[in-house]
Amino acid sequence: MTSACPHHPETGRPTAAQIERMMDAAAARVTGGGGRLTRPRRRVLELLLAAGGPVGAYDLVASFHPDRRVAKPATVYRALHFLQTTGLVQRLATVKAYVACKPERLGSPAAFLLCDCCGACREISSPGTASLKAAATATGYAIERVTVEAQGLCAACRPERP
Ligand SMILES: [Zn+2]
Ligand SMILES: [Zn+2]
Repeated sequence: MTSACPHHPETGRPTAAQIERMMDAAAARVTGGGGRLTRPRRRVLELLLAAGGPVGAYDLVASFHPDRRVAKPATVYRALHFLQTTGLVQRLATVKAYVACKPERLGSPAAFLLCDCCGACREISSPGTASLKAAATATGYAIERVTVEAQGLCAACRPERP
């Protein structure tokens, strides 16, 4: 993610080895759930992991083919939809972008801390969803997904505290 802000975001891009490990974990999760990590799904996930932060669907379509061919948007959207159902990817409505979830936290509720200044996106585990689920269950509602998105400033972009 590019930004004009002079601060260094806390979240960085993973190394190739880290991406490979995360892809292996993702593939294991998908096959474990009876699904298949097809080429388009794999490619979209790889792009999201490599970005190390939120990426818009348009950018995913543009970079889907390494050789500047333009991908069919439907291919990318279908892959994104599948990856969301597996919990590997979350859509961040406030920034209209998609982000790969940390493999070590897959399956547990996450909250995303978005920085208004540098655009950094940090994933933390969300402690509050248990009571939300209980309250929803009481109304007969079954929550499938909860995405918590917080807006504010990351540690690097906050003004110096005295
Ligand atoms: Zn920031
Ligand atoms: Zn900043």
